[in-house]
Amino acid sequence: MIDRRAILGAGLWIAMAAAPSALAQTPGPGPNRRLGPQQGGRDALPLVVIDPGHGGADPGAIGPQGTQEKRVVLAVALELRRRLEAEGRCRVALTRSADVFVPLRQRVEFARRRQAALLLSLHADALPPGQAASIRGASVYTLSTTASDPLAAALAQRENLADRAGGLALPSVSPEVQRILLSLMRAETRQGSERIARHTLAALRGEVPLLANPHRRAGFLVLKAPDVPSALIELGFLSHPGDEALLRRPAWRAKLAERLAQAVHGYLGRRIQA
Ligand SMILES: [Zn+2]
Repeated sequence: MIDRRAILGAGLWIAMAAAPSALAQTPGPGPNRRLGPQQGGRDALPLVVIDPGHGGADPGAIGPQGTQEKRVVLAVALELRRRLEAEGRCRVALTRSADVFVPLRQRVEFARRRQAALLLSLHADALPPGQAASIRGASVYTLSTTASDPLAAALAQRENLADRAGGLALPSVSPEVQRILLSLMRAETRQGSERIARHTLAALRGEVPLLANPHRRAGFLVLKAPDVPSALIELGFLSHPGDEALLRRPAWRAKLAERLAQAVHGYLGRRIQA
């Protein structure tokens, strides 16, 4: 495992050599990033950013019974926050805690600015009629420039429509330095993203219907923070009547939140004392 601070140190050295003025703007972890609770106050706890998809004028998917994705994912996010905060092993921030629209780039920047240890984007999408009837189950997506399969590619394409202005604001260093910084940061971030995907599927498996090949990869804009491990979790497909019926039930959403809390704690390296 690469040490993020070593990466940052090397990266800053490169940035400094190339463009001293860029130093203050270089994104990356702060000095307290890896401190455990025993080494500092509450602020030293890792920050988990939960991102309920869609919101406001963008309802996301709408199920046959009229269930709106934006409402389902917000309900699960609020319950997940409640559980994580009750456990006290991390801090939690939501990109939205009400029915408001937040652009995708802003969601990513929200997590980066706060030097989050993790970004979890929650969704419950629908597939076009024809495909929809037979496909159900939860799935987890991590970033890739090439999609793992047509379904993942189509989902990413639809999600990304919410925010057409892609790309990230990078420090004002030369393109070559940017490239080096980013590839160093991304290597470790990618490992973290793969790890949270594994923890999530381990927590869901046997408890929640899963899509076939439930870990998929595609170019979701909301997963593009180079320095924050990120995963997009589809809690189910609102286009499937069985999934929609489950997602409408508060008890089911509480179960999903409980499983996701387990995954987050596993990722953070501490087990729930259940
Ligand atoms: Zn969605």
